[in-house]
Amino acid sequence: MYVVCGEHLEQAIDEFVEVYEMPPDLYELEEVSLTDWTAPNRCTFCDRPPKYLVV
Ligand SMILES: [Zn+2]
Repeated sequence: MYVVCGEHLEQAIDEFVEVYEMPPDLYELEEVSLTDWTAPNRCTFCDRPPKYLVV
């Protein structure tokens, strides 16, 4: 699972495909609310606030 900013979305997708050999599902963080999970407050690849969830 990757939580990324807009700039690193492509990188996250690339890595996901490499690792899992299938395309990930994309969600906008604003649209997902998981009760038992709190989104990290920074991107996986940089210090920006994340915008997308790649799973
Ligand atoms: Zn980033």
